[in-house]
Amino acid sequence: ETRTEFEELKGNIRVFCRVRPPLPDDIPCAEGKAKIFFTFDQVFTPDASQEDVFVEISQLVQSALDGYKVCIFAYGQTGSGKTYTMMGKPGHPEQKGLIPRSLEQIFQTRQSLLSQGWTYEMQVSMLEIYNETIRDLLLTNRDLSRIENGTSGKQYAIKHDANGNTHVSDLTIVDVRSTREVSFLLDQAANSRSVGKTQMNEQSSRSHFVFTLRISGINESTDQQVQGVLNLIDLAGSERLSKSGSTGDRLKETQAINKSLSSLSDVIFALAKKEDHVPFRHSKLTYLLQPCLGGDSKTLMFVNISPDPSSLGESLCSLRFAARVN
Ligand code: ADP
Ligand code: MG
Repeated sequence: ETRTEFEELKGNIRVFCRVRPPLPDDIPCAEGKAKIFFTFDQVFTPDASQEDVFVEISQLVQSALDGYKVCIFAYGQTGSGKTYTMMGKPGHPEQKGLIPRSLEQIFQTRQSLLSQGWTYEMQVSMLEIYNETIRDLLLTNRDLSRIENGTSGKQYAIKHDANGNTHVSDLTIVDVRSTREVSFLLDQAANSRSVGKTQMNEQSSRSHFVFTLRISGINESTDQQVQGVLNLIDLAGSERLSKSGSTGDRLKETQAINKSLSSLSDVIFALAKKEDHVPFRHSKLTYLLQPCLGGDSKTLMFVNISPDPSSLGESLCSLRFAARVN
């Protein structure tokens, strides 16, 4: 499918559905059959490999090098394969996910464009949004001890400038020159997330992970300049936690997730319908990504689905969410 077709037929939002294979731990229960049909731009059955999936998004990744703002989300209940789709399986390089594959492609393409006069600078930031609060995942040990002492003074205020560039105050931004450098940062971020995990009960499935690669390219011979952004987002688990059973922190957490996932759906829906008012400001996530969701940016949503019948209720909810934004 060419880019023109993509834009004419679909606007700038696409939805892909991926069903993961059954796992030994899945709870078997009576087969349920739901006679409801959903339509997506692409469906990946359990036998689809990481490579099969990447082939379908590589053009979108390429467009970030061409100067577009791109967002790729993974949406679904906990255990449905979001992190597998984004990052892959630790210790299994052949099953690496979209983030490492995108980086490899970007750095390879950068190398091949050198001969045409293009030089690129790349910067990475990684953050987590938990309870509507931003957490920097690339802090140094010194920063971390200041936070423990309550003396960090970090604000993480989000601002967008007139050129559609987003600034998050105090957020760590790292210049990167190779896939290896980014892999190192991804490991650092993963460690930083798991520290939070023990402190705040399984925070990683209760928070949104946002990986951002900023790309600025300049062509010495033609004087052309491009500024692209690639955002890869592993969303918080979409499962509906019963409000009645939750109290205190857990309730607050549940409300924060519900609020940000529903405002993401509202924003994408309003953009797809070309509505005048797009409620970007209703959540941190949509406000942070505002310049990368509207305008001529490109958005792809993966809806990850668990195949086990006991997940049927949640799967239907995810499919309905996807159908609304599609
Ligand atoms: P989530 O991030 O949505 O909570 P995970 O990505 O952690 O879910 O997936 C749950 C489990 O299923 C993990 O052990 C993961 O390795 C496995 N898994 C998910 N998708 C696939 C897939 N397509 N192929 C093989 N294993 C998968
Ligand atoms: Mg996960």
